[in-house]
Amino acid sequence: MEGHCMKCKERKTMKDAQMTMTKRGGFMAKGKCGSCGTTICAICSKDNAEKAIKAGEAKKAF
Ligand SMILES: [Zn+2]
Repeated sequence: MEGHCMKCKERKTMKDAQMTMTKRGGFMAKGKCGSCGTTICAICSKDNAEKAIKAGEAKKAF
């Protein structure tokens, strides 16, 4: 699972990623930057969200 880290200003691998569902029914992964520990988020499609959960890259949190 990757997301854009605001602090590192580049894409980073997320640590402790959790897949959440937004109010509009979209998916969002939330985790910590593997480099600096800042919380980072990534918007996901339903397909990508399910793949990430199956692959164990993100924990289902909805
Ligand atoms: Zn970072």
